[in-house]
Amino acid sequence: MAKRDYYEILGIAKNATQDEIKKAYRKLAIQYHPDKNPDNPEAEEKFKEAAEAYEVLSNQEKRQRYDQFGHQGLGGNGGFGGGGMNMDDIFSQFGDIFGGGGGFDSFFGGGSRGRRTKKGTNLRVKLKLNLKEVANGVEKKIKVKRHVLADGVTFTTCSTCQGTGQIKKVVNTMLGQMVSASTCHVCGGNGQIVDKKPAEADARGLILKEEVIAINIPGGVADGMQLSMSGKGNETAGGIPGDLLIVIEEVEDDILQRDGNNVVYDLYVNFVDAALGAQVEVPTIDGKVKIKLDPGTQSGKMLRLKGKGIKDINGYGKGDQLIHVNVWTPKQLSKEEKQILEGLRNSENFKPDPGNSEKSFFDKMKEFF
Ligand SMILES: [Zn+2]
Repeated sequence: MAKRDYYEILGIAKNATQDEIKKAYRKLAIQYHPDKNPDNPEAEEKFKEAAEAYEVLSNQEKRQRYDQFGHQGLGGNGGFGGGGMNMDDIFSQFGDIFGGGGGFDSFFGGGSRGRRTKKGTNLRVKLKLNLKEVANGVEKKIKVKRHVLADGVTFTTCSTCQGTGQIKKVVNTMLGQMVSASTCHVCGGNGQIVDKKPAEADARGLILKEEVIAINIPGGVADGMQLSMSGKGNETAGGIPGDLLIVIEEVEDDILQRDGNNVVYDLYVNFVDAALGAQVEVPTIDGKVKIKLDPGTQSGKMLRLKGKGIKDINGYGKGDQLIHVNVWTPKQLSKEEKQILEGLRNSENFKPDPGNSEKSFFDKMKEFF
């Protein structure tokens, strides 16, 4: 397989400084670190690729040879025996990248690699919610396929790492001896390997099981929001289960529009109702309500139904429903209707009086928000 260009792998220019090289590699090492990407061979490949690129470009002599002769200049396969660097080599490199004795762990919340509890992978599901469910909150039951430990599976301590889940290695560096630890390749860091398992379980002692999980969605969630149910992800041997992540997808309502915690409704009334006043029915999240239009209601008027909006996600009460009044002008008129209106055309009361009308849109917004 053709090797990728080392500069391209690290995303840097040919004349990058040592500082830039180090920075680029740190970023990739964190992004593709195996602890952050369990059971992801693609990430592992990227992780190794970046390490190899750094190994060469951080070394003045190797870099010169590479610049001049490319991968060939480093001995055919880049000098890494075909398979690239192994994980132990990579982790021992971290001493000088991240400072301290292989202090990579500080980037992942501290603690040493050995003491960290192994966690199963997370599951992610999308959940569609309509406006009413978003507004008031809802309990949903969803089907999830997750890896769980099979009944009857037994484990035994991994002999390669003596159950610690990591393999320690002493490496000599310019700064002296350093102990580097890498994940045990036999047990994958669990410290345990499957002893006996039922036929249907995989090599990790896991089976794929469909479960119905009840989720309480609080009111006020928004599109793209992610809720996490801890422990409802995939299980793993000798560790704790991962989490179930629920990504909210808001389905737009045909009639009511969401605006933060408020709900906006466009009401259309004819000009007789607007002039004489009327009782009109208005849809809300919780069903229809009747509202009173005052005589002389202007087009553009905003009415407010307190507390008829969306629950605040942080528990600060509820939003309102805003009703935007639009006066409808008839487009077709019968002969008789025309006659009536003609009689009103020049009436003093029918003369528009902008100063006594609704405020401009922007002024109104200031008033409402
Ligand atoms: Zn092991």
